[in-house]
Amino acid sequence: VEFNESCRRMFGGLDRSMVGQPVERIWAAMFGSRSSVPDLGAGDEELEVPADESGGRTYQVRISPLKGQQGSVSPGTIMIISDITEMKRMQKQLERNAYYDDLTGIYNRRAFLEYGETEFGKAREASVPFTIIMFDIDHFKQINDTHGHQTGDRVLVHVAGITRSCLGQDMLLARYGGEEFVLALPGKKVSYGEEFAEMLRRQIESRPLMVNGQEVTITSSFGVAGASWQPGESLLHVLHTADKALYKAKRGGRNQVRVNESHPA
Ligand code: GH3
Ligand code: MG
Ligand code: MG
Repeated sequence: VEFNESCRRMFGGLDRSMVGQPVERIWAAMFGSRSSVPDLGAGDEELEVPADESGGRTYQVRISPLKGQQGSVSPGTIMIISDITEMKRMQKQLERNAYYDDLTGIYNRRAFLEYGETEFGKAREASVPFTIIMFDIDHFKQINDTHGHQTGDRVLVHVAGITRSCLGQDMLLARYGGEEFVLALPGKKVSYGEEFAEMLRRQIESRPLMVNGQEVTITSSFGVAGASWQPGESLLHVLHTADKALYKAKRGGRNQVRVNESHPA
């Protein structure tokens, strides 16, 4: 019956000749083949028309029947169409910010705990091993103090990059805190985790960062722990046990790997 000027501006395919045409034709003019016409008799409805591959716009469509005389059929339907492309983009950005570490681009602690919890549950269900590796850069404060905070940041990116390049399938990597990283190895035994940590330790040690033409050697300490699958054991228990092993590695002189069996409290 009618559409307003905003609607015409939004959809180039709409024009006056479409008044009186079947709604399918008009819907196709607005959204192409991205969406089919919903059931207009179904009462209030809200739907989303996704963007097409060519970077198109995303729309929210709110549909409500017009009220007729009491007992009579509805004389028509009103559609309110909103362009929510920008909102969707911001939503995606917010999700990114919530799950990734700004500096290194790897997962943050929150993402790790969420995805790790899922993997932990799956491994328990399947009765397969589950191993955690925590590692922490040695004397990082000294690196900051000697070379400046910016170089410290570069060291973090460098270490994250090396670790990323070593990752096996299904492994989860995150920046757990300031200069502390964590890995989850679903399906892998502690002995595998220990070997992996040792390999990573050597990789980091043997790939110094160049700062103003000078090599800055980085070392890190590793703690490894595996799930024991005793009743009541949680991901946090395993993380805590790995952290204790990491502490032992620090006490033992740093730049080394230590292993701990996990025991629920
Ligand atoms: P250890 O060998 O026992 O691990 O000693 P450390 O100096 O590495 O550990 P400590 O916990 O004393 O110091 C960590 C430092 O990391 C302190 C903090 O200022 C620095 N730090 C934390 N986050 C960042 C960051 O994002 N960038 C930089 N450049 N420094 C950070
Ligand atoms: Mg440290
Ligand atoms: Mg630390």
